[in-house]
Amino acid sequence: MTVEAHKETLGFQAEVQQLLRLVAHSLYSNKEVFLRELISNASDACDKLRFEALTDGALYESDPELKIRVSFDKDARTITVSDNGIGMDRQEVIDNIGTIARSGTRQFMQKLSGDQARDANLIGQFGVGFYSSFVVADKVTLRTRRAGMGPEHGVLWESTGEGEYALETIEKPARGTEVILHLREEESELLNEWQLRSIITKYSDHITLPVLMPVQKFSEDKDAPPTIEEERINQAAALWARPKQDIKEEEYKEFYKHVGHDFEDPLAWTHNRVEGKLEYTSLLFIPARAPFDLWDREQRHGVKLYVQRVFIMDDAEHLMPRYLRFVRGVIDSNDLPLNISREILQGSKIVDSIRGGSVKKVLGLLEDMAANDAEKYGKFWKDFGRVIKEGPAEDHGNREQIAKLLRFASTHNDSAEQTVALADYIGRMKEGQDKIYYISADSFAAAKNSPHLEVFRKKDLEVLLLTDRVDEWLMSHLTEFEGKPFQSVAKGALDLDKIASEEEKQEQKQAEDQFKDLLTRVKEVLGDKVNEVRVSSRLTDSPACLVVDEYALSAHLERLLREAGQNVPASKPHLELNPQHPLVARLKDEVDPGRFGDWTHLLFEQAMLAEGGQLEDPASFVKRLNGLLLTLGH
Ligand code: ADP
Ligand code: MG
Repeated sequence: MTVEAHKETLGFQAEVQQLLRLVAHSLYSNKEVFLRELISNASDACDKLRFEALTDGALYESDPELKIRVSFDKDARTITVSDNGIGMDRQEVIDNIGTIARSGTRQFMQKLSGDQARDANLIGQFGVGFYSSFVVADKVTLRTRRAGMGPEHGVLWESTGEGEYALETIEKPARGTEVILHLREEESELLNEWQLRSIITKYSDHITLPVLMPVQKFSEDKDAPPTIEEERINQAAALWARPKQDIKEEEYKEFYKHVGHDFEDPLAWTHNRVEGKLEYTSLLFIPARAPFDLWDREQRHGVKLYVQRVFIMDDAEHLMPRYLRFVRGVIDSNDLPLNISREILQGSKIVDSIRGGSVKKVLGLLEDMAANDAEKYGKFWKDFGRVIKEGPAEDHGNREQIAKLLRFASTHNDSAEQTVALADYIGRMKEGQDKIYYISADSFAAAKNSPHLEVFRKKDLEVLLLTDRVDEWLMSHLTEFEGKPFQSVAKGALDLDKIASEEEKQEQKQAEDQFKDLLTRVKEVLGDKVNEVRVSSRLTDSPACLVVDEYALSAHLERLLREAGQNVPASKPHLELNPQHPLVARLKDEVDPGRFGDWTHLLFEQAMLAEGGQLEDPASFVKRLNGLLLTLGH
């Protein structure tokens, strides 16, 4: 190690600087939360140590009693929060404190408007954790040493929160982390035992480790000087282990902020004790807003596993399926061994059944919310709907229940908002209608204006408009709902016979006879580009559209798969022509044979464009179009 590496000054990542500036502004009215954040971090650090020590007991360094200490020094004007948890090495300090490694950080920063009041609201959902220290302190010193490393490997980090921080190698005999806040002039009232005590009780009572504070004890003898004794400030009883009726709403909320690493209250929670063959308690929360790493495969937080109140591990995958990855909370089992490893978790029947039971609880919670508080559910769906849509594919067993939770945009409403439940749709089905119709497209506008919808509009049949990327995936795993099969309006022959009048059927038959010749000629021109050319019963306004077979990939899915780099064989759609359309009528009777080819290609190409497809040869399309435009007026 070079000398410079022992003592150096480093710049904060640009995002951190921006964040720090915002923090001071946004937390101003709620500054005491800094203590909650520091205690929360200390508690996490102890949890991490306990987990790593499962495989390496030496990490305890003969100091196995994990605890958190809060103290203050009136003369030095400091508050200190320390723990004997895992600690950090130099690189970890740089990565965790000087950088925001979270994915989604950049997108978050782009959302900031520069209007401090507005941005202050946003910062809450991002979470500021450690940086909240700078709201009350004008200088923060962090001293830390990673468990298992020698005392000479301590690291000192210090910053005034203005662009730079200093790093230094120090001696630190005790493992763990100590955060020293040098208070701003105006924060003197924090230098007071009762003040700190009340903040800790308000925000951190649920922390399961003891939070200790040195307090003055006066003896009976009035003349004797007071002694200093360490006292436990928090209850240190696992919140979830207490009877439900004894827990206040506020306590649930504060607990959530710790386990969920969130600054906002949760949207809802479910707290259950299961007894019988298996015994476990679960306390599971739905956040009010999607975390920024919702789409990150490596996202960090999930449901924590405890065994008999002892933290075992933070584990997203084993305790919740991917489609419920936004759920936060704890599961505490009485049946698992304390020294359980990830490998054992993997194949454990106990874990499987705890997971199964917990999933049911979350689905039940959401079902209740949907039934009793549509507004709240709407908020939930906006943020997490796309994740829930992964459910039917991932969790076949709960497919029906998940399907009830789904919400879609539909032709019944004018807005792109997803508010229609499948049960609503079924309630509005027309006499003789036996399918749930849907269309999938790249955008709401493309779906809503698709030629495929024309006949449905005419017959006043509702069609679900699917425009999320995950929708195609969803529909390939959802074949029916309450006995009604799903049918893409862009696929197969539309079997609208039951809804069609005798007259309409007659017309269709007639058109098929009249256009027979034309269909053959069009097919000759287009050759291999299309499968079959037929008379459409789908269209009212547009001259033509493309349709794929019932079991073929939809054009939209084909595009998605190609974008994802998959080698999808080009499928051949059917071209359908609208016999009522004047262009088609002219093609049949009037177009001079020299232009027939251009007209035909244009019909095919516009059908392709209308459904969001890409032309194989756009230049030829433009040339043809211009050629025809030039004949106008002649
Ligand atoms: P979060 O807790 O949500 O990760 P914070 O800003 O509160 O965000 O903390 C950032 C990171 O700094 C933590 O994830 C952790 O890696 C590290 N850290 C903070 N405090 C401590 C501590 N007392 N002991 C060890 N690591 C800590
Ligand atoms: Mg934190």
